[in-house]
Amino acid sequence: MNNQAQNKYANKQDRIVHKNHASSQVSIKSKLLFLQFYYNLMDIYKSSRLDNLKYEIRGPVYEKAIALQNQGYKITSLNIGNPAAFGFETPDEIVHDIIVNIRSAQGYVDSRGLFAARKAVMQYYQNQGVKNILIEDIYIGNGVSELISLVLTALLNADDEVLIPSPDYPLWTTVVGLAGGKAIHYKCDEDSDWNPSISDIESKITNKTKALVIINPNNPTGAVYTKETIHNIVKLAEKHKLLLFADEIYDKILYDENIHHSAAGLSDEILICTMGGLSKNYRAAGFRGGWMILTGAKHKAKSYIEGLNFLFSTRLCANVITQVGIQTALGGYQSINDLVLPSGRLARQMNLAHEKLNAIPGVSCVKPKGALYLFPKFDLNQFDFEDDNHFVMSLLEEQKILVVGGQGFNFTDKDHFRIVFLPHVEQLTVALDKIALHFDNHRI
Ligand code: PLP
Repeated sequence: MNNQAQNKYANKQDRIVHKNHASSQVSIKSKLLFLQFYYNLMDIYKSSRLDNLKYEIRGPVYEKAIALQNQGYKITSLNIGNPAAFGFETPDEIVHDIIVNIRSAQGYVDSRGLFAARKAVMQYYQNQGVKNILIEDIYIGNGVSELISLVLTALLNADDEVLIPSPDYPLWTTVVGLAGGKAIHYKCDEDSDWNPSISDIESKITNKTKALVIINPNNPTGAVYTKETIHNIVKLAEKHKLLLFADEIYDKILYDENIHHSAAGLSDEILICTMGGLSKNYRAAGFRGGWMILTGAKHKAKSYIEGLNFLFSTRLCANVITQVGIQTALGGYQSINDLVLPSGRLARQMNLAHEKLNAIPGVSCVKPKGALYLFPKFDLNQFDFEDDNHFVMSLLEEQKILVVGGQGFNFTDKDHFRIVFLPHVEQLTVALDKIALHFDNHRI
């Protein structure tokens, strides 16, 4: 090849390389574009219905606790009312009946529940003096949690309002939001043993208000409402034609001879939906068993009841083997009664926690009349905590104790937290001493 021919050949090769290079650049670029497009398609976003909803009991501080645990730290979890985790076992009789009946619990049953379980619930309320109950009025669910979800979903249209206590058991607020409704919080007054303020409830009723929720005995405050309070709430619901939901899951966990007054059957003019379950009274939270009873103006709620029956049937039925446990639980010897006696394990732990918290300068706590929690207040002026969230996170990081801040219960004051008093006295003493130390370490 002469020089001219060589140059011509080299130029041609250059053009080919350049062309190949250019085309490979184009193909990389288009591949990248495709991947970008593909991964954009792959991004999955949560529903906007979840915006602004929270569930702090298992929220970010809980996630931090799990991370610390994974690093090898031992965390004392006083954030969840899970009796079994602290050695409060489900009564043997219930466990035994479940084991014996497990083979016969393999199929679906009536979506409202097993006849025997519903009958047991019916008799439970009849024994409390509730009249005119039919088996159709009883529904069994996978825990009160599922029932809360079904009763609100069946009721609410967009922007319907539901009155919920503050502080609350936050699932009620969350589900109202999920169902498209609006939770309106009414005040429970710390200075009057955390009783609901009837005037505050009334001031918040609008033409959009559909229902009123009470939690009695109360989580997180431990309040147990007097007969008069329940009476006033029912009268208010009657006056404004509201559906009354009564979450009574702690109805047998009562201290110092306090008496529980159920809302079931207290009105013929309005519909009252009363709920209970196995998780607390029978220390069987993992079995997921709950029930509800409709009393009162059922004739005015035909469409709602139709909606309830529809929703219950869409999830086929509640866990069948647990329903066997409901029947056993509600009859006969009630071991919970021993646990709440002054000498009983629950009452001793409650008294210890109450005394020790109140002994911390700058901390005060109303004595619980029922349930499994205390809801103490701390004076923000005496400590360097910015708010309850700061306190809770620092307690976790420095003392490895997990509690929940008051704001997690839709409480607007920023100076409360909830503590579960389920650990044995020895473990509880150590935890409470660490909490006292933590307050001392942060005293201004
Ligand atoms: N309602 C209240 C007031 C609770 O405190 C709880 C659980 O802590 C529930 C309902 C949920 O109960 P279940 O385990 O039956 O779903």
